Amino acid sequence: MDIIYRFDPFAKMEWKNPKNNKEALQLLTTGNDRFATVVAQMQSAATGEKQHPPMIVPINPVKLGVPLVSGLEPAHSPFAMVLGCADARVPVEHILDCSANDLFVVRVAGNVLGTECLGSVDYAATHLKSSIRSGIVLGHTQCGAVTAAVDIYLAPAGFTEIASSHAVRSLVDRIMLSVRGAERALERVHGAKVQKHKRYREMLITTATYLNAAVTAFDVQRELNAIGKGITVSYTVYEMAWSRVCALPARTAEDAASVQRFAPAPKDTDEFVTLSEKIIERL
Ligand SMILES: [Zn+2]
Repeated sequence: MDIIYRFDPFAKMEWKNPKNNKEALQLLTTGNDRFATVVAQMQSAATGEKQHPPMIVPINPVKLGVPLVSGLEPAHSPFAMVLGCADARVPVEHILDCSANDLFVVRVAGNVLGTECLGSVDYAATHLKSSIRSGIVLGHTQCGAVTAAVDIYLAPAGFTEIASSHAVRSLVDRIMLSVRGAERALERVHGAKVQKHKRYREMLITTATYLNAAVTAFDVQRELNAIGKGITVSYTVYEMAWSRVCALPARTAEDAASVQRFAPAPKDTDEFVTLSEKIIERL
């Protein structure tokens, strides 16, 4: 299976950024759909089930953020800012099939909002407001930071392993709110005996992963509202097994393709409660 990147000097170099949050989310959704399709094609080629014709990917220097003429400096014009995890398996531009100049990306383990990350978000909202139409918090399944927070919550003795590192502790501490919220939601839905369930740790990790992305989106939205930038912040989670971003857990590839892909940050406690119950329904 060939994937060919092609630059056509006679093709139109113009690119219009999306006009609003809705169009930006649509662009990100179709980009992720293309990525998931390529992954599915690679999988079927690898098993010998089906071979696919070459895929031509057009290259646009303006979207890549490189100068068309040597010596010129390209404009910085991302249409979305994304706060994602540092996990190497979640390359933001790849999984959303975007070019380099499409996204202003901040990556930190556990996609948490520390002071420096907030500074980057604030910079983008202030200095790139003519192009940015959306804010996204991107979590992912199999997140090491969320898993560490859950394991420390379940077995606090393990905390001694990270106690000597202030930096690692601060990451885990920021995720702990979502772990506690996930635990309480699981008890509310399934009763206190849920802790005896054989999949309890797995359910806690998945619920905390989604809640952590939503909590960070809530924090980013609140900060942006405070500085009056008028950008809508959504959350999503990259479901690694299905190569799709999803706003609620997906059990199958079909599920991942049909579920809501991005959801706005919850606005208050009631919306967090509703969200946590919707997450748990799909575990
Ligand atoms: Zn992660």
